[in-house]
Amino acid sequence: MSTAWRVLICDSIDKIGVEILTKAGMIVDYQPEISFEKLQSLVNGYDVLVVRSRTTVSKEVIEKGNSLKVIARVGVGLDNIDTNYAKSKNIEVINAQEAAINAVSELVIGSMISLARLIPFAHSELSKGNWIKKSLIGTELSGKYLGIVGVGNIGRNVGRIARALRMNIIGYDIYPISREYINEVGMINADLNTLVESSDFITIHVPLSSDTYHLFDGDLLSRMKKSSYLINTSRGGIVDETALYDLLKDQKIAGAGLDVFEVEPPVDKKFLEMPNVLCTPHIGAQTKEAQELAARVIAEKLIHKFQEASV
Ligand code: NAD
Repeated sequence: MSTAWRVLICDSIDKIGVEILTKAGMIVDYQPEISFEKLQSLVNGYDVLVVRSRTTVSKEVIEKGNSLKVIARVGVGLDNIDTNYAKSKNIEVINAQEAAINAVSELVIGSMISLARLIPFAHSELSKGNWIKKSLIGTELSGKYLGIVGVGNIGRNVGRIARALRMNIIGYDIYPISREYINEVGMINADLNTLVESSDFITIHVPLSSDTYHLFDGDLLSRMKKSSYLINTSRGGIVDETALYDLLKDQKIAGAGLDVFEVEPPVDKKFLEMPNVLCTPHIGAQTKEAQELAARVIAEKLIHKFQEASV
């Protein structure tokens, strides 16, 4: 019989993940507040590292983890893990891609409606005693064009919900989008410039990489319609924040919904002072359901990996 894996959990995860792993006989060390320095001194001897987005699994950490077999991300984005270096050391990197689909999609729809109907601004004014009903003329989603950049798991689900709200869907992806999905939501498949120039709302769902860093640069952003909104729940570095701020300040676009920032938490509070910008603190996957599902998916994947390694 193989020796049980030693699992170091470095970020807070739903307790179901710890329960499943412990029941399966793994030796689980739950240290959700572990510092980067402590992680480096402790990592040696563990077979598995489990992280969310707080912990950076850099080359230095991987180098010190002589027994590491798997690095597991309880979530989607892998940009806090040096995946290339892990691969070079034969360490597998896994994630829970499927867990956040609903949570992020619903935040996108919520942000679009909030911006289009000026809900946060209306609330904030009323809380100051200002009944400004006459000036709060919003816009409706129905009949508008939604541009989806990155038609993967989340992008596709956003398209389905938006279709149910009677929006028209435009999609762009570097890989071909399935004919079945195009037919399902009546998607117009366009190049990126056309999508940006034609959409009333744009939602970004591509991963952060050297290819997508500042994909939405000053040039692309300036192609947006004056009446259009940009929603980013993907990663901060994908949008050039300075260029976006300038466009918003000069009222060259209608507004933006930002769940992610290039530096988190943002040092610069400039977006928070704008009435047409809705900022949230990276809460895309922060639902009870998504957190539980992510922890469960990762625990089950790890048990499967352990069984595979044991035969
Ligand atoms: P996914 O891998 O299913 O989809 C990503 C899509 O982007 C793919 O179809 C891919 O082909 C496409 N793509 C990649 N590079 C592209 C480019 N240069 N131009 C156009 N398309 C490109 O991923 P997903 O599950 O839909 O998640 C998308 C992203 O959402 C994640 O990478 C993550 O960064 C982010 N995310 C954020 C939160 C949050 O809390 N806000 C939660 C989960 C995921």
